[in-house]
Amino acid sequence: MIETKGLIKTIGDKVILRGVNLTIKKGESVAILGPNGAGKSTILKIIAGLMKATSGDVYIDGLNFKKDSYEMKKRIGFLAHNSFLYDHLTPLENLKFFGKLYGVSNIEEKAKELVNEVGLGFFIHDPVRSFSRGMLQRIAIARAIIHDPEILLFDEPHTGLDQEAIKLLNEVILKMKANGSTVIMVTHDFQQAVQTCDRVIIFRNGKIVEDLDNVKNNLALVTARYTEQVACL
Ligand code: ADP
Ligand code: MG
Ligand code: MG
Repeated sequence: MIETKGLIKTIGDKVILRGVNLTIKKGESVAILGPNGAGKSTILKIIAGLMKATSGDVYIDGLNFKKDSYEMKKRIGFLAHNSFLYDHLTPLENLKFFGKLYGVSNIEEKAKELVNEVGLGFFIHDPVRSFSRGMLQRIAIARAIIHDPEILLFDEPHTGLDQEAIKLLNEVILKMKANGSTVIMVTHDFQQAVQTCDRVIIFRNGKIVEDLDNVKNNLALVTARYTEQVACL
């Protein structure tokens, strides 16, 4: 279970998060939607332990992130807007490098398996320098899951992907869900959000303004709320 309690983030005199309380149960899949600048990436980075809150806490299974951050980070797979990769290394070398950081065992085998799973088997030995955005994102997806994380935090994973890569990404998410992982996905893509997630949270101006569960059975309501809060802006 992930809990945020009273998360506030300010940068200079700008308030980015205004006291966010959020409880996400183990195995839930949550889409975070909202206009640009609402604070979506900020909350994700704080949950991932990549950014400090100004005040408030994040708990995972009741443990405060501040106290056990290395152990916590190993349980999380984070996919950023633009994931960092070593452009002179091949997909396989990139995955092995990041897998080692997490202490993944049988890394060679695991990395090869993932390169194939994300459809880059033909390019396994090419430096990623020349790769398209879609190809890089495939590696970034593989990298986010190489250590079998219990928690997946994806920031706009669909942006810039072609249809085939979107299908692959959705398969990865559904597979992780089936394995019991918790998924939090920030996205601008409403259709993808309701296809892959069971709960939709809408952020505006550093706050949660809608929290809608059981999305597939309440699609009309969720669509109406989304239209009112986001699409009309
Ligand atoms: P979202 O992901 O919802 O588009 P973000 O969480 O990236 O929004 O950002 C929320 C707000 O915080 C935005 O207005 C953004 O400009 C501001 N912001 C983010 N990072 C910084 C920073 N390093 N310095 C100043 N303002 C920032
Ligand atoms: Mg944005
Ligand atoms: Mg963002």
